[in-house]
Amino acid sequence: MRRETGACFCGGIAAAMDGEPFWICYDHDDDCRRAIGSPMTIWIGYRPEQFQLLRGTPKAFSKTPGVTRTFCPGLWKLDRL
Ligand SMILES: [Zn+2]
Repeated sequence: MRRETGACFCGGIAAAMDGEPFWICYDHDDDCRRAIGSPMTIWIGYRPEQFQLLRGTPKAFSKTPGVTRTFCPGLWKLDRL
């Protein structure tokens, strides 16, 4: 079975995804551009049973009703130094 792994820039958050994604989307709306800090975003969707958090605890927030975004709190700490 295909297994993709990844981590945030500081390494505090790591995850693995098993199998094929069920959804891939290119996006450039205002909320996503601000959330990612990029002119365009590529979202790759996996079902909860395909996803395994290997390290860390992401922080979560919601600005848009029905949408929860998560991020690594490690970068937040670096910004405050
Ligand atoms: Zn990080």
